[in-house]
Amino acid sequence: MNAKTVLISGASVAGPALAYWLDRYGFQVTVVERGATLRPGGQAIDFKGHTQLTVLARMGVREEIFRRQTGRADLQFLDASGRQLAVMTGEFLGGDVEILRGDLAAVFYERTADRCEYLFGDSISALVETADGVYAEFENAPGRAFDLVVGCDGVHSAVRRLAFGPERDYVRHLGYYYAVAGAPAWGMQASRPQRSVANAWSAPGRLAVRGGSKASQLYIFAARQLDYDRRDVAVQRRHLMEQFAAVGGEVPGMLAELPGLDDFYLDSMSQVRMKGRYTTGHVALVGDSAYGNTLGGVGTGIAVVGAYVLAGELAVAGGDYTIAYPRYNEIMHRYAKIAGQSNAGRFLAPRTALGIRARNWFLGSRAFDLMLKYASNAANDIQLQDYPALLPAA
Ligand SMILES: Cc1cc2nc3c(=O)[nH]c(=O)nc-3n(C[C@H](O)[C@H](O)[C@H](O)COP(=O)(O)OP(=O)(O)OC[C@H]3O[C@@H](n4cnc5c(N)ncnc54)[C@H](O)[C@@H]3O)c2cc1C
Repeated sequence: MNAKTVLISGASVAGPALAYWLDRYGFQVTVVERGATLRPGGQAIDFKGHTQLTVLARMGVREEIFRRQTGRADLQFLDASGRQLAVMTGEFLGGDVEILRGDLAAVFYERTADRCEYLFGDSISALVETADGVYAEFENAPGRAFDLVVGCDGVHSAVRRLAFGPERDYVRHLGYYYAVAGAPAWGMQASRPQRSVANAWSAPGRLAVRGGSKASQLYIFAARQLDYDRRDVAVQRRHLMEQFAAVGGEVPGMLAELPGLDDFYLDSMSQVRMKGRYTTGHVALVGDSAYGNTLGGVGTGIAVVGAYVLAGELAVAGGDYTIAYPRYNEIMHRYAKIAGQSNAGRFLAPRTALGIRARNWFLGSRAFDLMLKYASNAANDIQLQDYPALLPAA
């Protein structure tokens, strides 16, 4: 009953954060990551509110994250002639502290790399529940038994598919796709720039963004579920170009640059719905695999809080997952509500010209200020146990 060995799938945000806590509580941790290395750079992500900043402080990484934060970027919506129509502030987009996803992953990874086992370039291919744990098979490494397995492998989680069932049962397509290309221009610099501005051009059901801290190019477009090969980047690029061919402003220039940008990634905007049941048998899910909502703006903070809660509950239960998992489900079901039912696609890329005008009006109105305030209160919404303080010092 008392778990000692834990296999984590995914080394982005949730995985290394969970590894950090489990290692600190005395578990033996193995992390398997499909990528050949830790992916550097990437889009900017952020933390909002007291709860999330408290977890970072308890991890001892809060100062470093503030040191490595981005300069923030305002997002200005322009018409085809370059006239400003509306602005979304860097405070709204970047929360209390904004950092590149790759930088954040590196902060967690550096604190766990020499104490946890990392298997890069591999993936779990099968999971078999046994009486006292889970037997995991890998695509490359030999199979092994673990006491517990945790899926931190994102919206398209392999662990969720293997342990809970097919993706269609848990992932809802929100009617939009997004694509990012190129890291932010300053992404790999050691020192962070001052505040910058990203420019956006709209058409019904389309938004194209150039610059800022998310990526050098970001696109959002409305579409029913597309049938495409997720490994065929050339086809995805072509598809994106067709979608934006008629959009004005600087978009034709952006599309011309697209083939030269690396780090291209296209995916559906989706919401993961587990109805508060993030565990089954010896398997649990943390982060986007459990409560993801693409571009919802709070995924990173929830992932880090989820890692903290799962590890803390396992530690105070002495490794007894039958006690810890129900507590984790209950706490995170409440907290993950801040990921909400929102559909960022519908807000950012309305499907009609009238909808676009309404969005621009809303961004300049008092109602938007109230929404900002609500979002920040919601992120503060939970009192967390001080798990490290509950346990005897190691
Ligand atoms: C353009 C963009 C902008 C965003 N902006 C924000 C923002 O402003 N604020 C915010 O809070 N969040 C933002 N997010 C969301 C945020 O990135 C996620 O919510 C957060 O990273 C959750 O982390 P995760 O570790 O659960 O999942 P992910 O970051 O998705 O990581 C999953 C990891 O698992 C690995 N993996 C996948 N499949 C397998 C497998 N079969 N075997 C092994 N490994 C596997 C992947 O390679 C990856 O390393 C944004 C996301 C995007 C794409």
